[in-house]
Amino acid sequence: AAEREISFFFPTECTLAVIKPDTSEELREEILGEIRAAGFTISWQKEMVLTREMAEEFYKQHRDKPFFSYLVDYMCRGPCTMLILSKENAVEEWRKMMGPADPSKAKETAPGSLRARFAKDVLENTVHGSSSSQHAQEKIQLLFGEISSESQVISTGDDDEPNP
Ligand code: GDP
Repeated sequence: AAEREISFFFPTECTLAVIKPDTSEELREEILGEIRAAGFTISWQKEMVLTREMAEEFYKQHRDKPFFSYLVDYMCRGPCTMLILSKENAVEEWRKMMGPADPSKAKETAPGSLRARFAKDVLENTVHGSSSSQHAQEKIQLLFGEISSESQVISTGDDDEPNP
């Protein structure tokens, strides 16, 4: 009983993860499986096609980059899987699991990462992850709206798994 109480106080952090469009059903399931196997809790999950306005807002920090319009086109091309992941150190852990944006760099520096294995190129690189807790909060608010202000964990995506 004492152990259960202590585990309750382990600090968890939330991050926003996105499986970008053009990912096959099979690859999507594989990525979700790897996320769970890495110890993340999928606190919330939804499929959604972004409007241009939302994609522009989502990537507003890249507004002045030459690739911005391609990035927005890509993000609107089909359904994205939006995930709120929680785990101790979730922001950093998920970034590590993704690897660098450019898969050729990812193959050199993080060969086991998702982008090293699955990204097509620097644009179509399969997954997104917030770079800070602050960004995660903002993007979760943008994509999930009111649920993020209702505090705490809302639902688990893996109810079929028995609790430890
Ligand atoms: P991330 O945080 O690791 O996703 O990387 P960035 O914030 O630097 O870039 C955001 C997204 O823009 C990336 O995930 C890519 O989809 C895209 N992107 C980044 N750099 C480039 C680039 O040099 N060219 C193109 N075409 N797309 C890029």
